Order: sequence, then C-alpha cells, then structure tokens
Amino acid sequence: MSTKSISEAALYAEDLHKSFGGIEVLKGVSLTAQKHDVISIIGSSGSGKSTFLRCMNLLEFPDAGKIRVHGEKLDLSQNSRGGRSKHVQQQIERIRSCLGMVFQSFNLWSHMSVLENVMLGPCSVLKRNRDEVEVQARALLDRVGMLEKCHMYPDNLSGGQKQRVAIARALAMDPDVMLFDEPTSALDPELVNEVLLVIRELAEEGRTMIMVTHEMRFARDVSSQVVYLHQGRIEEQGSPEQLFNNPRSEHLQRFLSSQY
Ligand code: ADP
Ligand code: MG
Repeated sequence: MSTKSISEAALYAEDLHKSFGGIEVLKGVSLTAQKHDVISIIGSSGSGKSTFLRCMNLLEFPDAGKIRVHGEKLDLSQNSRGGRSKHVQQQIERIRSCLGMVFQSFNLWSHMSVLENVMLGPCSVLKRNRDEVEVQARALLDRVGMLEKCHMYPDNLSGGQKQRVAIARALAMDPDVMLFDEPTSALDPELVNEVLLVIRELAEEGRTMIMVTHEMRFARDVSSQVVYLHQGRIEEQGSPEQLFNNPRSEHLQRFLSSQY
C-alpha cells in the first residue's frame, strides 16, 4: 500500500498482536479503513473479532503493532509494558476520541435518562456548552427514532431502542470512525431490523464504519469490504461479492455454509 493511502486513511492498524495468558489471540492483524469505507468483520466465535476491535480503540492494549488514526501514530511495541508516559496516554485519549464504539450489550448508564446518556460525553469529556449539546443530542435521537423517549430510562426500553440510543450516544462524540461489535446479537429477532436500518442509513450517509457482525445478508448489502478472521489471522479479505459468492478459503466456505 502506498504511503499516501496510509496517511489519508481514517484508520490504519498494522500487525496487531495480542495474547491473553500466553495464548496468542491476535497473530498480526492489519486493516486500513479509508474514509467512507464500511468494513464488516466476520468469523467464528473466539476467532478474535472483539479483541481486534477493542485493540483498535485501545480498550485492550495490543502487545505489538501500530495504529494510526487522524494523523496520530502510535507504535505499540515501544510502550506495551510498564508505565506509559504522559505523552502516550494523551495519544491514547486522542485516538479513542476519534472512534465511536457500539457494544453488543449496549452499556448505557442505567441511572441516566436517554437524553442524559447522549449528552454525557460531549458535556463531560469534550466540555462543550450544555445547551448546544442538548440541541445536537435531540437531533441525533430524532435521527434514530428515539426523540419521543428522550426522558425515559434505559431499563424501560426494548433492546432495539437501547441500541439505537447507544448509536446516538456514540455519534454525539462526532467520531471519525464508528466501531460496532455485534450490535444486534443481543436482540430478539423482531428487533434486529430497526437497528440494522439505522446502521444502514449511517453507511449510506458515508460514515466510516468497521462492524463485527453475524448478519451475513446485511454485511453483503452494506459493506465496501469484508474481512474474514480465523484463529487470530485475516484469512480472506475483499469485496462482499468476492467473499460471499466466491470464497477461496476452505475455512470461510465452511463458516459461510454454517451461517445460512
Ligand atoms: P470473538 O469476538 O471472535 O468471539 P474474542 O476476541 O472475544 O473472539 O476472543 C478471542 C479469544 O480470546 C477467546 O478465546 C477468548 O476467550 C479470549 N479472550 C478475549 N478476551 C479475553 C480476556 N480479557 N482475557 C482472557 N482471554 C480473553
Ligand atoms: Mg466477540
């Protein structure tokens, strides 16, 4: 890949490694998301998909590799162990602030209303003006069809509604890239589509997104690129047509036939 396409990428991860208790879960995974890319990551349970996403936004600290987001370069092999310098800590914060994360299990604050959940990050992390943040939060909730419920608490919402609020909350931080970790896996089947619809609209608006999903039809429809992870390595990568219609790897062929 040319240096230019790396430096202009929305997110660039190179040769990420991560072990837990001596077991290597990521064995050198690299990924480049250009602006407006929608990348789906597929693979069996335990193949390292969540770990890869969590390493990209540094919720897990990779043992080695490089990450570049918004011109911020972090060489992880140089500071993987021991105390991290203040400079590195600031880099980590800046990288995180460019990435919005949506989890399988929503992770909303249960003691806060829907509106407060969406306003919290911009007010407390970005220290933005409260009135402005509220206007933006209401607009985002309207976009995900949750404005009418803005004063409700998460416990009184369905899973699909919670996830739509979680998406609005991530968008409120105005991230360069949205990361989704199986956003519909915890939902009752009848609630999956309302969340997929919101994600599809974001894709159509040109949002840069990286998404771990088991919704193969959806991945085929919305992705610009699909990545198949197998035992901590990218085994196959390409257009949705290529991976879904013409998979080369035997593991991927077997995985896909188990999905339908
Ligand atoms: P996937 O999302 O593809 O199902 P994960 O990334 O969650 O896979 O997990 C990959 C492997 O790493 C699994 O074997 C899992 O048990 C292990 N793993 C993930 N996170 C941790 C952790 N924090 N501590 C120990 N093992 C972990
Ligand atoms: Mg996972």
